[in-house]
Amino acid sequence: MKNTTQSVNRQENFLNLEDFKSEVTIASPGRINLIGEHIDYNGGHVLPAAINKKIKLYLRKNGSDTCNIWSENYKVGFSFKLSEVVPSDQEWQNYILGVVHFIEKLKEGSVQGFDCVIKSELPMGSGLSSSAALECGLAKGLNELFKIGLTSEEIITLSRDAEHTYVGTKCGIMDQFAVTRGKKNHLILLNCQDLNYELIPSDIEPYQLVLLNSNVSHNLASSEYNTRRNECELAMETIQKKYPMYTYLVDVPEAVLEEFKEELPQKVYDRASYVIAENQRTLMAANAFGDELFDVVGKLLYQSHEGLSTLYEVSCKELDFMVDFSKQFDYVLGSRMMGGGFGGCTINIVHQDFVESYIEAISKAYKEAFQIDLSPIEVKISNGVKKKKNGKYNK
Ligand code: ADP
Ligand code: MG
Repeated sequence: MKNTTQSVNRQENFLNLEDFKSEVTIASPGRINLIGEHIDYNGGHVLPAAINKKIKLYLRKNGSDTCNIWSENYKVGFSFKLSEVVPSDQEWQNYILGVVHFIEKLKEGSVQGFDCVIKSELPMGSGLSSSAALECGLAKGLNELFKIGLTSEEIITLSRDAEHTYVGTKCGIMDQFAVTRGKKNHLILLNCQDLNYELIPSDIEPYQLVLLNSNVSHNLASSEYNTRRNECELAMETIQKKYPMYTYLVDVPEAVLEEFKEELPQKVYDRASYVIAENQRTLMAANAFGDELFDVVGKLLYQSHEGLSTLYEVSCKELDFMVDFSKQFDYVLGSRMMGGGFGGCTINIVHQDFVESYIEAISKAYKEAFQIDLSPIEVKISNGVKKKKNGKYNK
């Protein structure tokens, strides 16, 4: 049931950040993912990290039964009563409403009226997971404000549930995990089946991770996301009829998938074949990373992109152009699209001495090809969501 009764407020003085006295301030980061794309909901391994670009959330109790939210980025606010938490027809409101709903489901009566101002330096819909940063940031903020006692695991899963149910994107667990559990200067090798993880030092000197935002977002991202999920489920159900021992696609050996080549629709077969190979690439990349074989990691990134583009079909001409263009430079070890796809960023491993000239060359070529400016995004690998205490951010 969608509700359209939430009152929308566009007045500039509705929760003015300038004189807003917050009781709790939260910094909630975006994330990168080196490799392992569309793998979390297939039960495989991913290699994400939280970054130094973040959403800040300023919160205070207001002593009423109403919650007031203001997004500095949209310059729009809205209010809702705690007795009327139902999905809205405004997508961004659903991240907020969903988180409040699922906290209340876990700990009834724990949330009271509050005011919250959101101010973000994360581009939206670019594959840096501003969505998980918003969900986990709000969950952490309410947890601190009302001393609810939620664990990090609960913050991760309730944020994911909010995105599934209120927003309608059947995302995996990677984004919320990375945003909450991120550790400075470390990649997280996360097993999405059991949430076991290993931290891998992220230093790649003399190379650097460079993000390039294509500044396109084709409007397919959320609908195609759910379609891919359904295609993977169809592959799994078909395989399970003969091989009930496999629960997740990533555990199906390639030879077993091969047996279903005729039975599965071609596209579904391609999706499954991508998923199985990508999970293996992630494990290989984690090992190569540990051994400082960054050229091997780079090659795996290129292979990942090829699979995302031709088998999983979540790339677009702009991203393909960027990845292809990078291949002519020896100082770029690897490049691939990052995030759900159909636009957003590429992640690139570039020699530190050539970062500037590479950005210049690719920006010029991209502008000529598409009349669009590329935006380089400088990222550092940072800690997960934090509360500000005595002027400093603490876990
Ligand atoms: P990504 O997670 O890659 O940034 P998504 O489409 O999953 O892309 O999430 C982006 C959505 O999250 C936005 O369209 C908006 O609904 C919500 N969002 C993110 N940041 C903000 C913000 N600062 N203010 C309001 N809504 C936001
Ligand atoms: Mg998202």
